[in-house]
Amino acid sequence: MTTFELMNLPYAQDALAPVISPETVGFHYGKHLQTYVNNLNAAIAGTPFAEKSLEEIVCIAEGGILNNAGQILNHNLYFSQFMAPQEDNRPKGPLAEAIKKTFGSLEQFQEEFVKKGAGLFGSGWVWLSATTEGDLVITQEPNAANPIQKGLVPLLTFDVWEHAYYLDYQNRRPDHLKALWAIVNWKVVAERYGR
Ligand code: MN
Repeated sequence: MTTFELMNLPYAQDALAPVISPETVGFHYGKHLQTYVNNLNAAIAGTPFAEKSLEEIVCIAEGGILNNAGQILNHNLYFSQFMAPQEDNRPKGPLAEAIKKTFGSLEQFQEEFVKKGAGLFGSGWVWLSATTEGDLVITQEPNAANPIQKGLVPLLTFDVWEHAYYLDYQNRRPDHLKALWAIVNWKVVAERYGR
C-alpha cells in the first residue's frame, strides 16, 4: 500500500527570500501541502488508489482524491523548481532554443506566462509544458488540474492560489509572478524537458 509523504525541500525555508518569505514557505509547504498529503492518504486507504502512483491517480481519479493528488503533484513540481535568487537568471541549451523559437525571446515568454497567470480567474496554476513532439505550450489550469491530464509534459509552473503569495504580496499577484523569475532553477526545468 502506498502512503504518500511530504516532499523534501531542496533548499532552506529562508533560501527564496525576499522573493518568497520564510513565513510563506512555512505555511505553503509546511501546512497547505502537508494537509493535501494527509487528506490523500486518508482518502485512498483501503481503496484501489492505494496501489497507484500520484500521476496515475491524477489521470483517473475524481472528486476529493483527484483534488488532493493533483495539489500534491503540482506542489512537488512547484517547490522543486526553485533556488535562491539569481541575477540574470536564464535557461540554456535546447530549452532556451525552444523558448526562443516558440515565443520569440525569453522576455516575451515571461511576459506571456505572467499575463496568463495574472489573468487566471480564481485559484489555479499557469504552466509551461511540452508536447510529445517537444513543442512548448503555456496553459492555465484551474484548481488542482495538471497538464498531464491533457497528455502534456509539465515543465514549469507558478501557483496562483492566494495562499502562494498573500502574506508577501497581498492582492499584487502580477508583482509576485514577475518576482518568481529570479528563483526559477532552469536546470531543473531543462531536465524535465529532457531534450
Ligand atoms: Mn499552493
